[in-house]
Amino acid sequence: MFAKYGELMDDLKRAIAIEGEIGIDEVVLPEGARRGDVAEVEMDAKGVKGVAGLEGFRASICECQKCELGATRNKFVFGVGNPDADIMFIGEAPGADEDRQGEPFVGRAGKLLDKILAAIDLDRTQIYIANILKCRPPGNRDPQPEEMNTCFPYLEQQIAMIAPRFICCLGRVAAQRVLETKTPLGKMRHQWFDKFGSKVMVTYHPAALLRFASYKKDTWVDMQRLRKSYDEWKETAR
Ligand code: URA
Repeated sequence: MFAKYGELMDDLKRAIAIEGEIGIDEVVLPEGARRGDVAEVEMDAKGVKGVAGLEGFRASICECQKCELGATRNKFVFGVGNPDADIMFIGEAPGADEDRQGEPFVGRAGKLLDKILAAIDLDRTQIYIANILKCRPPGNRDPQPEEMNTCFPYLEQQIAMIAPRFICCLGRVAAQRVLETKTPLGKMRHQWFDKFGSKVMVTYHPAALLRFASYKKDTWVDMQRLRKSYDEWKETAR
Protein backbone atom coordinates (compact mmCIF):
# COMPACT_ATOMS: atom_id res chain seq x y z
CA MET A 1 0.00 0.00 0.00
CA PHE A 2 1.36 3.46 -0.88
CA ALA A 3 1.25 6.35 1.53
CA LYS A 4 -0.21 9.71 0.66
CA TYR A 5 2.59 12.17 -0.18
CA GLY A 6 1.81 14.52 2.73
CA GLU A 7 1.75 11.67 5.26
CA LEU A 8 5.02 10.27 3.93
CA MET A 9 6.66 13.70 4.23
CA ASP A 10 5.39 14.06 7.81
CA ASP A 11 6.80 10.62 8.72
CA LEU A 12 10.13 11.44 7.09
CA LYS A 13 10.35 14.83 8.80
CA ARG A 14 9.63 13.23 12.18
CA ALA A 15 12.20 10.44 11.60
CA ILE A 16 14.88 12.89 10.41
CA ALA A 17 14.27 15.23 13.36
CA ILE A 18 14.66 12.36 15.85
CA GLU A 19 17.73 11.00 14.04
CA GLY A 20 19.29 14.49 14.14
CA GLU A 21 18.68 14.60 17.88
CA ILE A 22 20.38 11.21 18.23
CA GLY A 23 23.36 12.44 16.22
CA ILE A 24 22.79 10.42 13.04
CA ASP A 25 23.57 12.73 10.14
CA GLU A 26 22.81 10.35 7.27
CA VAL A 27 19.55 8.90 6.03
CA VAL A 28 19.87 5.12 6.25
CA LEU A 29 17.85 3.42 3.52
CA PRO A 30 16.80 -0.23 3.74
CA GLU A 31 19.37 -2.58 2.18
CA GLY A 32 19.11 -2.59 -1.62
CA ALA A 33 17.17 0.66 -1.76
CA ARG A 34 18.25 3.46 -4.11
CA ARG A 35 17.27 7.10 -4.40
CA GLY A 36 13.95 7.09 -6.18
CA ASP A 37 12.88 3.91 -4.43
CA VAL A 38 11.52 5.86 -1.50
CA ALA A 39 7.97 5.81 -2.82
CA GLU A 40 8.12 2.00 -2.64
CA VAL A 41 8.96 1.90 1.06
CA GLU A 42 6.40 -0.38 2.61
CA MET A 43 3.70 1.57 4.40
CA ASP A 44 0.65 0.77 6.38
CA ALA A 45 -1.84 2.85 8.31
CA LYS A 46 0.79 3.61 10.97
CA GLY A 47 3.57 4.80 8.60
CA VAL A 48 7.01 3.58 7.55
CA LYS A 49 7.82 0.47 9.53
CA GLY A 50 8.84 -3.17 9.61
CA VAL A 51 11.71 -5.35 10.73
CA ALA A 52 14.09 -3.89 8.13
CA GLY A 53 13.55 -0.40 9.54
CA LEU A 54 14.03 -1.42 13.15
CA GLU A 55 16.93 -3.70 12.32
CA GLY A 56 18.58 -0.94 10.31
CA PHE A 57 18.14 1.39 13.23
CA ARG A 58 19.58 -1.17 15.66
CA ALA A 59 22.60 -1.68 13.41
CA SER A 60 23.17 2.07 13.27
CA ILE A 61 23.28 2.55 17.06
CA CYS A 62 24.49 -0.75 18.55
CA GLU A 63 28.11 0.43 18.89
CA CYS A 64 26.98 3.46 20.90
CA GLN A 65 29.57 5.01 23.23
CA LYS A 66 27.63 8.18 24.10
CA CYS A 67 27.75 7.46 27.82
CA GLU A 68 30.10 5.56 30.09
CA LEU A 69 27.88 2.44 30.05
CA GLY A 70 29.12 1.75 26.52
CA ALA A 71 32.52 0.85 27.93
CA THR A 72 31.23 -1.61 30.53
CA ARG A 73 28.40 -3.35 28.65
CA ASN A 74 28.75 -6.83 27.32
CA LYS A 75 25.83 -6.64 24.84
CA PHE A 76 23.74 -3.73 23.63
CA VAL A 77 20.10 -4.53 24.47
CA PHE A 78 18.06 -2.91 21.72
CA GLY A 79 14.61 -4.42 22.24
CA VAL A 80 12.68 -7.40 21.02
CA GLY A 81 9.28 -8.39 19.73
CA ASN A 82 6.80 -7.64 17.03
CA PRO A 83 7.80 -4.57 14.98
CA ASP A 84 4.11 -4.09 14.26
CA ALA A 85 3.03 -4.42 17.90
CA ASP A 86 -0.04 -2.64 19.22
CA ILE A 87 1.34 -2.88 22.76
CA MET A 88 4.84 -1.96 23.89
CA PHE A 89 6.28 -2.65 27.35
CA ILE A 90 9.06 -0.41 28.62
CA GLY A 91 11.37 -1.43 31.45
CA GLU A 92 14.26 0.29 33.16
CA ALA A 93 17.60 -1.13 32.04
CA PRO A 94 19.24 -4.46 31.22
CA GLY A 95 20.39 -6.59 34.15
CA ALA A 96 23.20 -9.16 34.15
CA ASP A 97 21.25 -11.78 32.16
CA GLU A 98 20.10 -9.26 29.57
CA ASP A 99 23.62 -7.87 29.25
CA ARG A 100 24.89 -11.40 28.57
CA GLN A 101 22.19 -12.33 26.07
CA GLY A 102 21.45 -8.97 24.41
CA GLU A 103 17.72 -9.30 24.99
CA PRO A 104 15.44 -7.49 27.44
CA PHE A 105 13.73 -9.31 30.29
CA VAL A 106 15.33 -12.74 30.01
CA GLY A 107 16.23 -13.17 33.70
CA ARG A 108 13.96 -13.90 36.66
CA ALA A 109 11.94 -10.72 36.21
CA GLY A 110 11.56 -11.59 32.54
CA LYS A 111 10.20 -15.06 33.30
CA LEU A 112 7.64 -13.41 35.54
CA LEU A 113 6.81 -10.90 32.79
CA ASP A 114 6.14 -13.84 30.45
CA LYS A 115 3.66 -15.23 32.99
CA ILE A 116 1.99 -11.84 33.38
CA LEU A 117 1.64 -11.61 29.61
CA ALA A 118 0.25 -15.14 29.41
CA ALA A 119 -2.33 -14.22 32.07
CA ILE A 120 -3.81 -11.68 29.65
CA ASP A 121 -3.40 -13.97 26.67
CA LEU A 122 -0.34 -12.26 25.18
CA ASP A 123 3.14 -13.46 24.37
CA ARG A 124 6.39 -11.95 23.14
CA THR A 125 5.53 -12.52 19.49
CA GLN A 126 2.62 -10.08 19.79
CA ILE A 127 4.18 -7.25 21.74
CA TYR A 128 7.41 -5.24 21.76
CA ILE A 129 9.70 -4.91 24.80
CA ALA A 130 12.44 -2.34 25.32
CA ASN A 131 14.10 -0.45 28.15
CA ILE A 132 14.88 3.17 28.95
CA LEU A 133 18.60 2.26 28.83
CA LYS A 134 20.15 0.00 26.20
CA CYS A 135 23.17 -0.86 28.35
CA ARG A 136 23.48 -2.34 31.83
CA PRO A 137 24.39 -0.01 34.68
CA PRO A 138 27.23 -1.76 36.58
CA GLY A 139 26.01 -3.68 39.62
CA ASN A 140 22.41 -2.94 38.58
CA ARG A 141 22.59 0.54 40.10
CA ASP A 142 19.81 3.00 39.22
CA PRO A 143 20.16 4.65 35.81
CA GLN A 144 21.55 8.20 36.13
CA PRO A 145 19.43 11.07 34.71
CA GLU A 146 22.25 11.89 32.26
CA GLU A 147 22.33 8.31 30.99
CA MET A 148 18.56 8.26 30.55
CA ASN A 149 18.57 11.57 28.69
CA THR A 150 21.33 10.37 26.39
CA CYS A 151 19.65 7.06 25.62
CA PHE A 152 16.02 8.17 25.50
CA PRO A 153 16.04 9.41 21.87
CA TYR A 154 16.79 5.80 20.80
CA LEU A 155 13.63 4.63 22.52
CA GLU A 156 11.67 7.53 21.06
CA GLN A 157 12.78 6.46 17.60
CA GLN A 158 11.68 2.86 18.29
CA ILE A 159 8.32 4.11 19.50
CA ALA A 160 7.97 6.26 16.37
CA MET A 161 8.75 3.26 14.14
CA ILE A 162 6.52 0.77 15.96
CA ALA A 163 3.76 3.30 16.68
CA PRO A 164 2.09 1.14 19.34
CA ARG A 165 -1.44 2.01 20.38
CA PHE A 166 -0.61 1.20 24.03
CA ILE A 167 2.54 1.59 26.09
CA CYS A 168 2.86 -0.06 29.48
CA CYS A 169 5.65 1.35 31.67
CA LEU A 170 7.09 -1.22 34.04
CA GLY A 171 8.10 0.43 37.28
CA ARG A 172 8.74 3.92 38.59
CA VAL A 173 11.95 4.66 36.69
CA ALA A 174 10.45 3.86 33.28
CA ALA A 175 7.17 5.59 34.08
CA GLN A 176 8.75 8.79 35.35
CA ARG A 177 11.15 9.06 32.40
CA VAL A 178 8.52 8.30 29.76
CA LEU A 179 5.99 10.66 31.30
CA GLU A 180 8.60 13.25 32.35
CA THR A 181 7.29 13.52 35.86
CA LYS A 182 8.31 12.92 39.45
CA THR A 183 4.85 11.64 40.42
CA PRO A 184 5.04 8.46 42.53
CA LEU A 185 4.12 5.26 40.72
CA GLY A 186 1.12 4.60 42.95
CA LYS A 187 -0.46 7.88 41.85
CA MET A 188 0.04 7.13 38.16
CA ARG A 189 -1.67 3.74 38.18
CA HIS A 190 -5.35 3.66 37.13
CA GLN A 191 -4.76 6.39 34.53
CA TRP A 192 -4.19 6.64 30.80
CA PHE A 193 -1.71 9.26 29.62
CA ASP A 194 -1.41 10.50 26.04
CA LYS A 195 2.19 10.45 24.85
CA PHE A 196 3.89 9.75 21.52
CA GLY A 197 0.48 9.22 19.95
CA SER A 198 -0.01 6.21 22.27
CA LYS A 199 -2.09 5.54 25.37
CA VAL A 200 0.42 5.14 28.19
CA MET A 201 -0.18 3.29 31.47
CA VAL A 202 1.96 2.42 34.44
CA THR A 203 2.31 -0.68 36.58
CA TYR A 204 4.81 -2.30 38.93
CA HIS A 205 8.10 -3.67 37.66
CA PRO A 206 8.16 -7.49 37.67
CA ALA A 207 11.34 -7.38 39.81
CA ALA A 208 9.33 -5.52 42.47
CA LEU A 209 6.77 -8.34 42.43
CA LEU A 210 9.55 -10.82 43.11
CA ARG A 211 10.40 -8.87 46.27
CA PHE A 212 6.93 -7.76 47.34
CA ALA A 213 4.33 -10.37 46.48
CA SER A 214 1.61 -8.02 47.72
CA TYR A 215 2.02 -5.95 44.51
CA LYS A 216 0.84 -8.90 42.42
CA LYS A 217 -2.83 -8.18 42.98
CA ASP A 218 -2.49 -4.55 41.84
CA THR A 219 -0.49 -5.65 38.83
CA TRP A 220 -3.24 -8.08 37.93
CA VAL A 221 -5.78 -5.24 38.12
CA ASP A 222 -3.55 -3.11 35.84
CA MET A 223 -3.10 -5.91 33.33
CA GLN A 224 -6.84 -6.55 33.20
CA ARG A 225 -7.35 -2.87 32.44
CA LEU A 226 -4.78 -3.02 29.64
CA ARG A 227 -6.40 -6.12 28.14
CA LYS A 228 -9.88 -4.56 28.34
CA SER A 229 -8.81 -1.31 26.68
CA TYR A 230 -6.91 -3.24 24.02
CA ASP A 231 -9.94 -5.41 23.25
CA GLU A 232 -12.22 -2.37 23.11
CA TRP A 233 -9.83 -0.55 20.81
CA LYS A 234 -9.51 -3.59 18.52
CA GLU A 235 -13.28 -3.80 18.35
CA THR A 236 -13.65 -0.16 17.25
CA ALA A 237 -10.56 -0.31 14.96
CA ARG A 238 -12.15 -3.12 12.87
N1 URA B 1 14.72 -5.17 34.30
C1 URA B 1 14.45 -4.25 33.35
O1 URA B 1 13.96 -3.17 33.64
N2 URA B 1 14.74 -4.56 32.11
C2 URA B 1 15.26 -5.72 31.73
O2 URA B 1 15.47 -5.93 30.53
C3 URA B 1 15.51 -6.67 32.73
C4 URA B 1 15.25 -6.38 34.02
